[in-house]
Amino acid sequence: MPGTVCLVPEVPPTLSLLETAVHAVGGAERPGQVEMAEAVDHSIRTGEHLAVQAGTGTGKSLAYLVPSIRHAVAEDETVVVSTATIALQRQLVDRDLPRLAKALKTDLGREPKFAILKGRRNYLCMHRVHNGAPDEPEDAGLFDPFAVSRLGREVKRLHEWSSDTETGDRDELVPGVSEQAWRQVSVTARECLGVSKCPIGADCFAERARAEAGKADVVVTNHAMLAIDALEGYQVLPDHDVVVIDEAHDLVDRITSVATEELSGASVAMARAGAAGSSTRTSRTGWPRRATGWR
Ligand code: SF4
Repeated sequence: MPGTVCLVPEVPPTLSLLETAVHAVGGAERPGQVEMAEAVDHSIRTGEHLAVQAGTGTGKSLAYLVPSIRHAVAEDETVVVSTATIALQRQLVDRDLPRLAKALKTDLGREPKFAILKGRRNYLCMHRVHNGAPDEPEDAGLFDPFAVSRLGREVKRLHEWSSDTETGDRDELVPGVSEQAWRQVSVTARECLGVSKCPIGADCFAERARAEAGKADVVVTNHAMLAIDALEGYQVLPDHDVVVIDEAHDLVDRITSVATEELSGASVAMARAGAAGSSTRTSRTGWPRRATGWR
């Protein structure tokens, strides 16, 4: 049987791709951008950590996206890009990445794929849509009949939208709804039953978004997702071998808020009830060890 020879086109070096990209978006070569792209490329190839401080006008998003895309395509890996703000996520996904994907398609031999991955709370939970949300703690607004009817209208609209939407992505619902209404049809990562236990897991919007992200070369997400993936003991991001953290000055705050337990009136009441109703041992701080729902 004759042998098979596969010809895999060689991926051009980062600086050549950067030149192509800059030319395609109508920009000019910037020394700081070239230097940063070289540094990011070196970091990806060697595995060394890199911290970059780049001033306004450096063109830093191209400086990290080009070597990231090159690595993802050449090595068939996924690169995660994390940002602090939705504005930067939108800029990357709506503007920079589509332009880069088109510009680099010929040189890379295929169009690179990218995806955005948000927290579970940003997608409709069909289990909650069908089964309803647990009762909320008392809310002063609910004594206002106008607030009740507005909430009812919004939830009805969400139920209707749930049969039409392809993505379940809250950002695609225009006009949007109040946070209170959205809570009726969504769950946090901790409230989710888990795909293996959920009767709707196979059709879950959040799970579908994650599966799509798993096929992408570059996945754009936020620092909170990065923190949950690293700290919470369950994987929310697809497998990846490189992480780029933009707006890194906000990283500590975002990770701290994910890793911090919050006390609310309702959670303290739950803790008190739990302590009164069981022989739960207390921790050194005096709080019941088994108290939950503090987030
Ligand atoms: S897997 Fe989680 S988020 Fe998805 S439908 Fe089930 S409970 Fe909701």
